[in-house]
Amino acid sequence: MSPQAPGGRTRLAAIVGSPVAHSLSPAMHNAAFAACGFDGVYVAFDVGAGGGAAVLAAARELGFVGLSVTMPLKSEVADLVDTRSPAVVALRAANTVVVRGRDLHAESTDGAGFVDSLRLDHGVDPAGRRVVVLGAGGAARSLVLALGEAGAADVAVVNRTRERAVEAASLAGSAGRVAGPEAVRDADIVVHATPQGMGADRSIPLDASALRPGQVVADLVYHPRRTRLLVAAEERGCTVVDGLGMLVHQGARQFTLWTGLEAPRPEMRRAAEDALSG
Ligand code: NAP
Repeated sequence: MSPQAPGGRTRLAAIVGSPVAHSLSPAMHNAAFAACGFDGVYVAFDVGAGGGAAVLAAARELGFVGLSVTMPLKSEVADLVDTRSPAVVALRAANTVVVRGRDLHAESTDGAGFVDSLRLDHGVDPAGRRVVVLGAGGAARSLVLALGEAGAADVAVVNRTRERAVEAASLAGSAGRVAGPEAVRDADIVVHATPQGMGADRSIPLDASALRPGQVVADLVYHPRRTRLLVAAEERGCTVVDGLGMLVHQGARQFTLWTGLEAPRPEMRRAAEDALSG
């Protein structure tokens, strides 16, 4: 369905943070609005640290349907909204705001989006599996929480800075622990959640000789889509999961929270792929 022209009833949604100029979210969400015949327009606003209160006031006063929130506003926005999901409370960070009348509600869809990507795109259920998460930043923390909730048997966090690994691992409850890189050998699922291998960085975040056939290797980095880690993992007989799936599925969850409609995931994926290669 082609997008309808904005009119008097058109609702706005936006990604807020900095930088946002290269975000794939506008292409993905506008494609979703068009596919569902939802009268909405999704744009990007470059807003730096300290801008969260003004953004939320605008979203409330202007009747936005919702916001996607990215760095550096995720914690600031989580503190300023009216209500929060349990995931936002645990992570002290939000990637989604839902405008409900004059109430602003925060959600975090990243971790659940990653688990959706495993289950829906690859038929991999993390329940009962041993998982290694490389990294302990915002993305890794959302994964650790979601993997614990999904019933992973063991969630081992490997990170350069140990204190951050300890804090992240605690999000998976009794399944969480801190580990060294040797944990990769015994894992069923390995998830890379640092910026290594992104853009011009050709580094690989683990010793690929530790990988073996049958393991699932996921890379959150999606630029490039086939990172050196995924190429090496594929060569060693692993199932590989690229980072675009997480982006699409976390966005699909946002779309449903905002509109109450089922998300048109294939159209969203196609739009994100086109925007990435365009
Ligand atoms: P972040 O909060 O800045 O955390 C970065 C993490 O990476 C930290 O644990 C940091 O370790 C580690 N790290 C950074 N540089 C490193 C290096 N050279 N060697 C080893 N470890 C290093 O970042 P984030 O928001 O979690 O994002 C992490 C990655 O996930 C980024 O590439 C981002 O693009 C990607 N991401 C993808 C999606 C998706 O939808 N696919 C969503 C969110 C994020 P220390 O704790 O020691 O500093």
